[in-house]
Amino acid sequence: MKPLVAVVGRPNVGKSTFFNRMIGERLAIVEDMPGTTRDRLYGDTDWNGRVFTLIDTGGLELGSGIPVGQVGLTGQPGDLMEHVMSQAHLAIEEADVIVFMVDARSGITASDEEVADLLRRTKKPVIVAANKADNAARRMDAVEFYSFGLGEPIVISSIQGVGTGDLLDRIVEELPPLSEMEEEEDEELPRIALVGRPNVGKSSLLNAILGTERSIVSAMPGTTRDAIDTEITFEDRRIRLIDTAGIRRRGRVGVGVEKYSVLRSERAIERADVAILLIDASEGLAAQDTHIAGEIHKQAKGVVVVVNKWDLAQEQRRAEREGVFPHPDDEIQSADEYRAIIAEGLKFIPYAPIIFTSAKTGYHIKPLLEAALKVADMRFLRVPTARLNEVVQEATRRHDPTTMRHKPLKIYYATQARVNPPTFIFFVNDTEGVHFSYERYLENRLREAFSFRGTAILIQFRPRS
Ligand code: GDP
Ligand code: GDP
Repeated sequence: MKPLVAVVGRPNVGKSTFFNRMIGERLAIVEDMPGTTRDRLYGDTDWNGRVFTLIDTGGLELGSGIPVGQVGLTGQPGDLMEHVMSQAHLAIEEADVIVFMVDARSGITASDEEVADLLRRTKKPVIVAANKADNAARRMDAVEFYSFGLGEPIVISSIQGVGTGDLLDRIVEELPPLSEMEEEEDEELPRIALVGRPNVGKSSLLNAILGTERSIVSAMPGTTRDAIDTEITFEDRRIRLIDTAGIRRRGRVGVGVEKYSVLRSERAIERADVAILLIDASEGLAAQDTHIAGEIHKQAKGVVVVVNKWDLAQEQRRAEREGVFPHPDDEIQSADEYRAIIAEGLKFIPYAPIIFTSAKTGYHIKPLLEAALKVADMRFLRVPTARLNEVVQEATRRHDPTTMRHKPLKIYYATQARVNPPTFIFFVNDTEGVHFSYERYLENRLREAFSFRGTAILIQFRPRS
């Protein structure tokens, strides 16, 4: 788990210059998000052995929806201030450490004061960075920033790269201790995360789940300072729902928080065994859904795809029976069509069960939890080595790997090295000789024999020593 460091401050103080310097080109996460003025908004960096995620809040479209660096159509500077304050609010909610950047050249402005007022009220660590202190005189002037009452300002010049090391030292000092960031490994509860873009119904679904019979709810702190998990009991099994606080809180801050929610869902996925990926039935499969599914796949997690708001589809069918047909643009696909759309759009996770739910009416909430638990169990399935090798032998007999490449490949034997995710090691004569399609073939044979429904499985090839 990586702690989150947010850089806030009014436009033009040099946030993105600093950010780009820290993140550089190599580690940057580039994502296209409409409405953002910059393409790079967060990325990982490390200093003295601590890795953390740095966020440039300046590029987020918040509050009035006006990107930073621009005034509103009305030309009202108020719009801009609203934006800056929204950044600060977000940082207070989401970040582990807040860097408050000001401009040593211009000194304290009214906007700075306003942000400082807000930041003084948070218990989170705040570090004042006085940027653009390019020469000795400016560095002297920067003492005025003491008056914020937020501690000693760190004097930097992002352009020259002067003082940034001191700032990083301070950031690392304020990060939560590593021990706090580590997951308590003794917990054997299945960990399930609800993920999806804003408005698909995550918080409604969470409430529907919490409302199911016999669920005993208890909140427990997650690994980062802001994460709250919820433990429920469902059909006599305890389940840990990951980062329910994030789900609850989302949506409150208004437009533009999508960026944060993407990051937040990535972190929830990281901590989960199984991700429940929500899709809005009335909207079809969006690019952002595919993106999140890709993240689940990349992290080799279990997954259940949920087509939520299914009551709207049911309502449409009822209306159709009475001769009322929707406009083609508003038409909600049938379940079969949805299965096809998902099979095509999310073809990299063909093993994912698909469930149609309504958080509103409670439709299929129980089958959803049952499916998620089954997937969690599949993650812990351990295949006996003898049985595994029978399956592998049969597979190689039916489809000889030597025909896949010019070099003859030999598979000697296979073993399951670990669970969660199920990971198989194949000992071979030549790891280079394994064609991707043959790996896929082996995966499919393993799935046929042992199911592993809903979870990624990993296959590795090692030379036999
Ligand atoms: P943001 O709106 O806070 O992200 O600010 P930018 O990073 O876009 O920077 C605004 C302007 O300040 C740009 O023209 C930068 O080149 C300039 N700038 C940033 N850091 C420094 C610095 O350390 N010294 C000087 N002199 N200019 C800087
Ligand atoms: P989140 O942003 O993913 O947490 O989404 P919310 O739970 O806040 O839901 C967004 C909107 O969709 C709200 O207006 C909900 O009432 C509505 N909604 C959520 N689930 C359903 C559902 O199953 N059916 C219908 N008709 N509306 C839903």
